[in-house]
Amino acid sequence: MTTSKNPGRSGGSYILILHNSREQTLAVGSLGGIMFSPGWFAYVGSAFGPGGVAARCWHHRGIAGRPHWHIDYLRAVTRLQQIWFSHDPQRREHQWSLLLGRSRGASQPITGFGASDCDCGSHLFQFDSPPSFNGFKRRAYRELEDHGSIRLERVN
Ligand SMILES: [Zn+2]
Repeated sequence: MTTSKNPGRSGGSYILILHNSREQTLAVGSLGGIMFSPGWFAYVGSAFGPGGVAARCWHHRGIAGRPHWHIDYLRAVTRLQQIWFSHDPQRREHQWSLLLGRSRGASQPITGFGASDCDCGSHLFQFDSPPSFNGFKRRAYRELEDHGSIRLERVN
């Protein structure tokens, strides 16, 4: 078992856990104006380019001056609380989205968010209470074959 709590520079998949404290309407690029209600959001992505998960999460920790991904718009007005990540060499984001969508209390409020080029519906999930890392990890290990270790970084 590795002990590092932070994403490294190799590729992998990740989930951002964000808290939105108030109702707000945002213009989200090609999706247009979207109302976000208060609550917890989980966004699923992967990063297999240069710098891997570390570089991508570095991007998400800050606020993008020029939003590029859908999540950049939401990230700019919410608080990043946790990063769940794995350096499993398989791209797990779509499998993870399916798992999250079946979690208790999960909804997928915005069709197409973060999922312009796949069949997931969206890669953004909303919860009334913080989603459980341990619950997610257990189900991923149980349901997804040969899954590499999944770790949690607390951002603040
Ligand atoms: Zn997908």
